[in-house]
Amino acid sequence: MRPTGRMHIGHYHGALKNWVRLQQEYECFFFVADWHALTTNYESPEVMRESIWDMVIDWLAAGLDPAQCAIFVQSRVPDHAELTLLLGMITSVGWLERVPTYKEQQQNLSDKDLSTFGFLGYPLMQAADILIYRANLVPVGEDQVSHLELVREIARRFNHIYGREAGFEDKARAAVRKLGAKRAKLYEQLRTQYQQEGDDDALVAGRELIEAAQNLNLGDRERLFGYLEGSRKVILPEPQALLTESPKLPGLDGRKMSKSYNNSIFLREDPASITAKIRPMQTDPARVRRTDPGDPEKCPVWSLHKVYSDEPTRDWVVKGCRSAGIGCLECKQPLIDAIIRELQPIAERAQKYLDDPVLVRNIVADGCDRARKLTAETMRDVREAMGLDYD
Ligand code: SF4
Repeated sequence: MRPTGRMHIGHYHGALKNWVRLQQEYECFFFVADWHALTTNYESPEVMRESIWDMVIDWLAAGLDPAQCAIFVQSRVPDHAELTLLLGMITSVGWLERVPTYKEQQQNLSDKDLSTFGFLGYPLMQAADILIYRANLVPVGEDQVSHLELVREIARRFNHIYGREAGFEDKARAAVRKLGAKRAKLYEQLRTQYQQEGDDDALVAGRELIEAAQNLNLGDRERLFGYLEGSRKVILPEPQALLTESPKLPGLDGRKMSKSYNNSIFLREDPASITAKIRPMQTDPARVRRTDPGDPEKCPVWSLHKVYSDEPTRDWVVKGCRSAGIGCLECKQPLIDAIIRELQPIAERAQKYLDDPVLVRNIVADGCDRARKLTAETMRDVREAMGLDYD
């Protein structure tokens, strides 16, 4: 996530809540994408200095647990930059120009000069961010699937060019035998299913099987990945999308919740301020008087109820709104209560980190160390594959 400062409830429901769940199920890496922020904000780097720590404190307050996941800052793991540079050697400029957000963002952010090399290359940097951890899964929303497709394309091209190995088939078959009879048979079945029927689930299952095999060295592991997917050694496995549906919370004015629109409720907002922000919130314009019936679908308050309220409350809102049986202030109260309830433990956790900035720095330093261990391994293989491992 780019360092944008304090997180609001839109970030919480759109991403953080999901991250908290994922850390329990997978080995997760979450990072502050400060280099990404520079691709569009290169003229105001000072904004990042405070934003980074505010953001990390909010991640921790939301429930990210440094014992379960790695939290780090991108620029403190410079291997990301080396891999970006090396992947740049094989990535066509046309691929980057065709990324849908490239033109879109240039138009949306027309007050900035984004005709830079860094901005064009940000999807490439994203590819390096993922591939450097040989990540299996990337949690994305539907709108980011095309970005991930580019990452897969770059990995495929890299493996195709640099995964050549003399006697690959023989070595791969020998590695299959090392799986043991039962696993080897299953591996062959999954390989056929994927290669002949394009069954992505078989690919995922095949990869898990390889991951779970304890007795393989790194070379055999890469060969088995490659043999599963095609005929080359896989140095950078293609990641899959872990599609996550997350509600999009509107801001207090019905537009997208964003700090720059001044329409957000922050994770560390106090109860009085939450109340003061929600009470004057816009409602269905048809409800001029208390006696005018309304339509929840035309009201941003209803969008928040859909996330925060249980079914009986939602029924009460719909009926009361359409029949003018309830007033808008009345309608907003259970929402105010629910948001305050949700944010209270978050604020309590945040206090611990606000009181001890050194603790936050140490958590990030540990996360950087964990990340660097993995990136060092990947870069060793990448350099070797590209012939950069001179004596
Ligand atoms: Fe919106 Fe509730 Fe008022 Fe209906 S009653 S317009 S849903 S605030």
